[in-house]
Amino acid sequence: MKDFAARVLRWFDRHGRHDLPWQGTGDPYAVWISEIMLQQTQVGTVIPYYQRFIAQFPDVGSLAAASLDEVLHLWSGLGYYARARNLHRAAQQVVSEHGGRFPQPLDEVMALPGVGRSTAGAILSLALGQRQVILDGNVKRVLARHAAIEGWPGQAAVSKALWALAEARTPGQRVADYNQAMMDLGATCCTRTRPDCGACPVQTDCEAFRSGRQDAFPGRRPRRDLPVRQVQMLLVRDEGNRFLLERRPPQGIWGGLWGLPELALGEDPLGWCERAGMGEVRAGRTLPSRRHTFTHFHLEIRPREILLNRAGCRLADGDRLLWHDPRRPGRHGLAVPVARILDEIYQQEGK
Ligand code: SF4
Repeated sequence: MKDFAARVLRWFDRHGRHDLPWQGTGDPYAVWISEIMLQQTQVGTVIPYYQRFIAQFPDVGSLAAASLDEVLHLWSGLGYYARARNLHRAAQQVVSEHGGRFPQPLDEVMALPGVGRSTAGAILSLALGQRQVILDGNVKRVLARHAAIEGWPGQAAVSKALWALAEARTPGQRVADYNQAMMDLGATCCTRTRPDCGACPVQTDCEAFRSGRQDAFPGRRPRRDLPVRQVQMLLVRDEGNRFLLERRPPQGIWGGLWGLPELALGEDPLGWCERAGMGEVRAGRTLPSRRHTFTHFHLEIRPREILLNRAGCRLADGDRLLWHDPRRPGRHGLAVPVARILDEIYQQEGK
């Protein structure tokens, strides 16, 4: 196994990705932004978001000074919004605790909100060339298959075995290239389905390849049925075809983003409108339900249309409620399912 890293590096020199916009910047801030975006999202999707984000917030100070709304607005469409909220909080922490300079010891990077051990290792190795070990989803898959590590990596014993393996395989030289290579290998060659083993630099001693059990690694999370939560979402609409949005609480799903007013299933939408000072309204259509799945539950959304016979009304609580015109959207972060519902309505009505 001694030349594992050498084989991976040779492969990287010929087939790895060398022109990603955050590569070669030597800037831990830039690599941090890219790593957080890449946590649940593929490179091709991330690049334009990354470029817009860096153009708007070129350094940690500008991100810390921004409003959460501006940050969420730039994140709209990337999903997993806790990542954006954590970035914003972490930037403020870097300013208040580290004088605006991105920390360099591993434990201080890991103390930032939303930064785990692997992400911290990636930032410090890719940006600064430190010898740090990483174990993101792609690397886990390559290592678990190569050494046939059984079990779901969410279990402590399996995770410990994978970290030990990652540590043992990481070389002392060219660590930035090696870590990037392992991520690239997992993303482009040792893919989740149908890995391209014929093109893989570590095929000769890969246990999963030898036994033809690539699909068995890494082990799957034990199955469980997710509960279903049902809510009504109100499409309160004025004569000018603007929709009422409500800011969601900072914690919980779509925290801090703008969404449609949400009510429990048995609650009366007209009563809600009266309490919100909407004046005279009438019930419109009930649109087909739709389902959005989170890690821990399914959310079943029942959109209910409520119509105002006039162009808007003064909103008592401008921090919590606003009128949204989908033809001229403002700079506020919108939860993706809500944006989809509004898009559908506009398409159906040919607006
Ligand atoms: S040989 Fe196949 S399964 Fe093994 S590490 Fe390479 S791509 Fe993955």
